[in-house]
Amino acid sequence: MPEQPIFLTRPYLPPLEEFLPYLEEIWASRRLTNGGPFHQQFEEALRQYLGVPQVCLFANGTLALMTALQALRITGEVITTPYTFAATTHALLWNGIKPVFVDIRRDTCNLDEELVEAAITPRTTAILPVHCYGNPCASLRLQQIADSYGLKLIYDAAHAFGVSVDRHSLLEQGDLAMLSFHATKVFNTFEGGAIICHDAKLKQRIDYLKNFGFADEVTVVAPGINGKMSEFQAALGLLQLKHIDQAIAARMRIDRRYRDALASVAGVRCLVAADGVKPNGGYFPILIGSEYPLSRDQLYDRFRSRNIHVRRYFHPLISDLPMYRGIASAAPANLPVATSIAKQILCLPIYPDLDHKVVDRISEIVCSPY
Ligand SMILES: *Cc1c(COP(=O)(O)O)cnc(C)c1O
Repeated sequence: MPEQPIFLTRPYLPPLEEFLPYLEEIWASRRLTNGGPFHQQFEEALRQYLGVPQVCLFANGTLALMTALQALRITGEVITTPYTFAATTHALLWNGIKPVFVDIRRDTCNLDEELVEAAITPRTTAILPVHCYGNPCASLRLQQIADSYGLKLIYDAAHAFGVSVDRHSLLEQGDLAMLSFHATKVFNTFEGGAIICHDAKLKQRIDYLKNFGFADEVTVVAPGINGKMSEFQAALGLLQLKHIDQAIAARMRIDRRYRDALASVAGVRCLVAADGVKPNGGYFPILIGSEYPLSRDQLYDRFRSRNIHVRRYFHPLISDLPMYRGIASAAPANLPVATSIAKQILCLPIYPDLDHKVVDRISEIVCSPY
């Protein structure tokens, strides 16, 4: 009998009947978008939940990131990581900015802060790191470098919803941080995203930019875009917030179960959260080393043959994609750690209602390679 497929992730949804009253309200009011009541409520509720100064909601994370770069008037070159999802780097290209790739650290898979300074040129205007898998970047050091060279620091925090370091949200770090509420992320509004910023003046500018640059009916202050979140998304976001702590707790139980099962497998390394970090269980990446009897791709094929959809996030590296590989900093010789991790990485399924028996079955496949 063919087994049911197991996907890497399965979007979390609240019980449908809990969402119906929200929909009735939207149908009755005919407020569908443009900063309606649910948009206002969700923005405030999210601000409080995340413990951040300002939230600007967006239709998706990519538009949020593109707008973040516009809001800070970033131009020229931006230092970034090759080990990420394509949207990070595409947002630079769409703004006419040249990405400059810097290698990553082996322990966190994040931009290696000690290599950043050497990549700064007179054209550099910003650093764009990613909190990969929700692992915090070395933000103190990155901020110090940004300050000494007069660079902006913008975080792609698409993976970092709800992650804190010493009880402070990761999203407070840098000049701006971008979130994604895509279906596959820890917190979803089907599609959605946000920019987190520090002051009301910058929020105002971002809010203009996401609405074509309109400041009022007759005043357009900038060449803005349509990045607005709809009332449907905002209402769903409000409801999802009521369930998110439970959903993250369920993810963390799975995280612990994998860790216990895989702790003593020779050649398999799990990434470890640093002291003081409260993770969100968004991903469960493992690294397949040379002591393991199978290659990463052989293990991947073994899962696939059992209809278990593990993913090689992030392979290929962004720097190997056709639109980037001509850039000097994209050369594999410049990115040895990222190049080697992209060959070793495998993300195992994790989502709130993943059955623990399935977690055990997946662990067993890793534990018995022969
Ligand atoms: C998901 C993701 C994005 C894009 O977010 P969308 O909401 O899908 O547009 C950007 N960067 C990273 C690292 C992501 O994982």
